[in-house]
Amino acid sequence: MQILLVEDDRSLASGLRHALHKQGYVVNHVESGEAALHVISTEPPDITILDLGLPDIDGIDVLKRLRKKNSSMPVLLLTARSAIEDKIAGLDSGADDYLAKPFEVTELFARLRVFERRISSVKTTEIVIGDVCLDAASHSVILSGDLLELPRKEYMVLKSLMENAGRVLTRSVLEARLYDWGEEVTSNTLEVHIHHLRKKLGADFIKTIRGVGYKIAKP
Ligand code: CA
Repeated sequence: MQILLVEDDRSLASGLRHALHKQGYVVNHVESGEAALHVISTEPPDITILDLGLPDIDGIDVLKRLRKKNSSMPVLLLTARSAIEDKIAGLDSGADDYLAKPFEVTELFARLRVFERRISSVKTTEIVIGDVCLDAASHSVILSGDLLELPRKEYMVLKSLMENAGRVLTRSVLEARLYDWGEEVTSNTLEVHIHHLRKKLGADFIKTIRGVGYKIAKP
């Protein structure tokens, strides 16, 4: 689950990033409305957490512009303003939920879980290819009837490939789904995940497209 965090308060942002990361989210962080709109049009996240008080564009305007590009992505507003008018303006402009600062991080997690449930009930949750069944709602993978325990990043690689069966995913696309911006990626990390997946799923399930990336054949 990729989260875009739009927050100009650096200490709050770094605390949230850390907490979300520990919960297993991939978090990308920007500090301005312009940067947020750029990311949303180029690398749309699954969920956006948007501070209303940004240095360049007002959060409500960011939200309105974001909704023109992306109507379905869940957006959670953060605000220091407690006025009910702000809350109403935010919800009227297309926000899905709202948290007033200061808030408990556990409450943020609870709101995100609601979004995640909604996302997985909209998307097809089960993908079956050959003997492999991946259930995105329960984050589980079943091979020929047996539950496989996959580390989070292996699961994410497999999920990306299965969701895009029949298409080649490049290394950079796969890596972008695995790591936060600025996170240190050693050059062969992806190969290591693929290697482990092949040991568990059989050597032929994931094909290497030499010089390009990886793919799983369409069922
Ligand atoms: Ca702010």
